[in-house]
Amino acid sequence: MSLKIKVVGGGPAGLYFSYLMKKTFPDYVIQVIEQNPPGATYGFGVVFSGRALSFLEQGDAGVIQRLKGNMQSWSDQHITHKGQRVVIDGNSFSAIARITLLTELQTLCRDIGVELVFNQRLDTEHPESDCDILVAADGANSVTRGRYASEFKTEISELENYFCWYGVETAYDAHTLTFISEGDGVYCGHHYRYKSNMSTMVAEVDQDTWVSSGMREMTDEQRQAHFQGVFQDTLHGKPLISNRSIWQRWRLVKNGKWHHKNIVLIGDALRSAHPSIGSGTRLAMEDAIELWRAFQSAGSDMQTAFQQYETQRRPIREKLDSAAEKSIAWYEDIAHKMSMSPEELALDYMLRTGLMTPERLAHDSPKFVATLSEAGVLSTD
Ligand SMILES: Cc1cc2nc3c(=O)[nH]c(=O)nc-3n(C[C@H](O)[C@H](O)[C@H](O)COP(=O)(O)OP(=O)(O)OC[C@H]3O[C@@H](n4cnc5c(N)ncnc54)[C@H](O)[C@@H]3O)c2cc1C
Repeated sequence: MSLKIKVVGGGPAGLYFSYLMKKTFPDYVIQVIEQNPPGATYGFGVVFSGRALSFLEQGDAGVIQRLKGNMQSWSDQHITHKGQRVVIDGNSFSAIARITLLTELQTLCRDIGVELVFNQRLDTEHPESDCDILVAADGANSVTRGRYASEFKTEISELENYFCWYGVETAYDAHTLTFISEGDGVYCGHHYRYKSNMSTMVAEVDQDTWVSSGMREMTDEQRQAHFQGVFQDTLHGKPLISNRSIWQRWRLVKNGKWHHKNIVLIGDALRSAHPSIGSGTRLAMEDAIELWRAFQSAGSDMQTAFQQYETQRRPIREKLDSAAEKSIAWYEDIAHKMSMSPEELALDYMLRTGLMTPERLAHDSPKFVATLSEAGVLSTD
């Protein structure tokens, strides 16, 4: 039996799901509706851990291999505090330009017959009425979810810190967190290379800094100039580049129900993952894999597939949410950590979610643990 599946949103979740489904069910009609033109996207680069890439290969290893060809990779993470860099070895990270990721996924989808419709915003009263299945992959501000917010039991909360996503034309060696404590507050930059000459810089300040630095009253252009001034050395004197870069508070989205009628939520529309625990893109693509797997075993039995998707995926998402909550609290409390030594701060950061233990750290990052030991921060006995 052939089904018509409409996917709202041509982000990583919607495109990867569409590709996997069309490959498995070539007779299904799969249409992706995307409000933007094909070459448009916000942001710069997205980062994946080595483990995340292995997991994504469970969807289609060939796709991930193809994406890897466009990635920058590194194995250390750096924490810079009080002007001193602490190196954390034993990591594995790769980053890709978001636009490259989307363009590659679009090409793969088009080549196997997924219908891609750009420049069309789906905002009708009953978007689910002209298809068998509607996949809401329309991001954290999903209007599809919003139409049935009470049925999905949607909860949206706003976090305290403010952040903004920039680019900079410089190549950092590794995924780096730089903390700068100035008279008027504490500033945090998460930066990593995603092309040979380009890096992402996610800028973050806590609520007190937002007020004390005067950023609350500034325009976004003034905030960009202000952050650039504070991070001048880290930026190697290069300007921050904006791409619809707006300072905002992170919105946490959760849904008590993951599907309603013939509509199912995936990616950021389902749960917006906080960037401080890693990759929202990875989680969005993992949702796509799990929903596809559910259809693989349930065939055209939509309700069974939806239920299986939620049963398999919810515990994993909830475990990550609990880690994210701890990580969020860590960043919101950053001002109180500025008196720590660089080594103490780096260790505190690595242990912040409870997912990493000192024992695992000793196994994964022996050089880092040796640095901590030399600094008297962690005993290796
Ligand atoms: C500051 C910041 C930093 C981040 N850093 C990282 C990072 O380093 N690594 C990482 O992996 N992720 C990062 N993310 C998160 C990442 O961008 C998302 O988690 C990921 O893109 C989610 O994928 P998605 O497909 O669910 O949604 P999205 O990527 O948001 O895609 C949704 C798509 O739906 C379209 N759309 C929305 N509404 C409609 C409509 N009504 N009709 C038609 N189309 C519609 C949108 O245009 C968009 O293309 C970051 C996000 C932010 C804001």
